[in-house]
Amino acid sequence: MTDITQQTAYDDNNIFAKMLNGDIPYHKVYEDDKTLAFMDIMPQAEGHVLVIPKQKAVDLADLEAKYAAAVLMTCKKVMQAQRQVFEREGITQMQLNGAQAGQTVFHYHVHLIPSSIHELGRHAVTQADSDKLADMAKQLATAIEN
Ligand code: 5GP
Repeated sequence: MTDITQQTAYDDNNIFAKMLNGDIPYHKVYEDDKTLAFMDIMPQAEGHVLVIPKQKAVDLADLEAKYAAAVLMTCKKVMQAQRQVFEREGITQMQLNGAQAGQTVFHYHVHLIPSSIHELGRHAVTQADSDKLADMAKQLATAIEN
């Protein structure tokens, strides 16, 4: 019988690990020594950003304190930039632990979505236009820098 309390093992070939290794492209919003922030390719609202640690963590259970702190500080930067760029106060912060919760990429990440929880689009369903994602990433990166 499968023990559902056991989490998935970290897979070095997961899509976010490949991004961190520079193997696949993404629209970067921000990067420092412990975190990376980029546009979600299947956003649940315009301006949906993901923040990941540069640590091999599947979910919250694995996350080391120094990476947890760094992820939150990057989330603050991104959220402030989203407020500025999208001219709205409401930013939903979301994070899924385990397939049973709906997690689909097993490298810990925080979703920052310029949307009300009541108006979120469907999770990881509709691919966004790459040029629009590139433009938003640029605007958010500029807002963080300034
Ligand atoms: P989870 O379901 O694990 O909480 O969220 C995974 C997120 O990663 C989803 O929102 C999904 O749209 C996003 N995602 C999946 N594949 C890719 C990809 O190749 N590039 C980017 N930028 N986002 C992805």
